[in-house]
Amino acid sequence: MSARLTFYGGVNTIGGNAVLLDDLDCKARIFLDFGLCLSKFKEFYSFPTDAPRYSIEEYTSIGLSPNIPEMYDRTKEKLCDAILVSHPHTDHIGATALIREDIPVFVGETAFRLYDGSMSSKAKQNLAVKEYQEKSKGRYRTFRTGQVLNFGEGLDVLPHHVDHSVPSSYAFVLKTSSGIVLYTGDFRRHGVVSDYTESLIRGLERLDEPVQAMICEGTHIDGGGVPITEAEVKDYTIRAIESACRGGLVIASTATNDIDRIRMFWEISNELGKEMVVAPPIAIALMSVEDDPKLGRVPKVGTRSQEVRVFLRELPYHPSNKRARVLDQRYGSEIFVDSAGLRSRAESCLFLDSWEVTPIRYLDPPPGSIYILSQTEPFEEEMELDERRLKNWLSVYGIPLYRIHTPGHARPEDIYEIVERLRPKKFFPIHTEQPQMFVPFLKKLETEVVIPIERGKYEIDG
Ligand SMILES: [Zn+2]
Repeated sequence: MSARLTFYGGVNTIGGNAVLLDDLDCKARIFLDFGLCLSKFKEFYSFPTDAPRYSIEEYTSIGLSPNIPEMYDRTKEKLCDAILVSHPHTDHIGATALIREDIPVFVGETAFRLYDGSMSSKAKQNLAVKEYQEKSKGRYRTFRTGQVLNFGEGLDVLPHHVDHSVPSSYAFVLKTSSGIVLYTGDFRRHGVVSDYTESLIRGLERLDEPVQAMICEGTHIDGGGVPITEAEVKDYTIRAIESACRGGLVIASTATNDIDRIRMFWEISNELGKEMVVAPPIAIALMSVEDDPKLGRVPKVGTRSQEVRVFLRELPYHPSNKRARVLDQRYGSEIFVDSAGLRSRAESCLFLDSWEVTPIRYLDPPPGSIYILSQTEPFEEEMELDERRLKNWLSVYGIPLYRIHTPGHARPEDIYEIVERLRPKKFFPIHTEQPQMFVPFLKKLETEVVIPIERGKYEIDG
């Protein structure tokens, strides 16, 4: 009976998760996620003009990636046998690009497609991208729900898909020598695939063994906005377009890999008879999953009816534009629409941007246009959201802004209900700026809330 946890990241902050599970009896040591801490990124850099230098010391010294020399330097003794990645957001997977090549990284199959597509098509803007492109990808091993991963001598890990704002998001059920540990990753119960989360909880309820420890995301313990569902997001978005857009362009912005939300905008475009044009990072994401059998209907990039085109500020594109080059090689140059082309048929188009990175002045939208902000959550470097700058430009053009969104994270009441149902012996809140709130919040339940401190070691059955 001898498994313990060490928290290297995700403590008192949203993201940058890195939790080491060390099971002495099973002789297995695995990291749960190994992400970049994007709050540090914001503190020290301004995307895209200022980025980390090509130096691992810079990443670790400011805490952008976990400061654990054994994870990067192949000459040092290994600290872990493997890394398990819960989902492809940078704050969970981002630092795996930097690690030594002899540590395998286990990641969901669709998650890897999205991550690989994004990292392979970027210019070498920072060390993580450079290292990813130059190192072997052989260390990434993919899994799907239903598979059991084995580590050491008898540590079984069951990845179980959960609902979140990117496909291929997983919780992990770890059968350690000290009992069951549940690592939730990032999850919610109000999205398109909320039944995934429910089937995880039901499965754990049915087990004979109790949950010894639950390591849970707590992003929204201090408030997660209006509790609406993805279906309601769609209804409100249609209502906003129908009532407010008067002959102009519909501009919307969402997270690059939020395939469910991208599909929603595509369905709305089809229902309203509009053509959807997307920013290049979204086209890369769609390209990465276009033949994924598990995702259902996903919009395709192309020029036929109901396929999506790709916006570029001007054509022909500059050869240094790597994403444009990748898309051109895959689909041909006919898929591109430039500023003049978009403006000339603004009334019949919906432009979907990725993290509002396309300056409004490039779009030069006509009067009667609207802007729908359909995103939140800091988990990608690109989302250096400067809402004030966006609003300033929208005011120049006289374009109203509509914020219509529901987050990818669990609501407090949902976490409460899950703890009530599973009755874990210990509850470790991570991925939150307010972990101490869980102590009074869960006080009526029989669960001990343990607030982890960075590099603190916690026995699971101690
Ligand atoms: Zn996260």
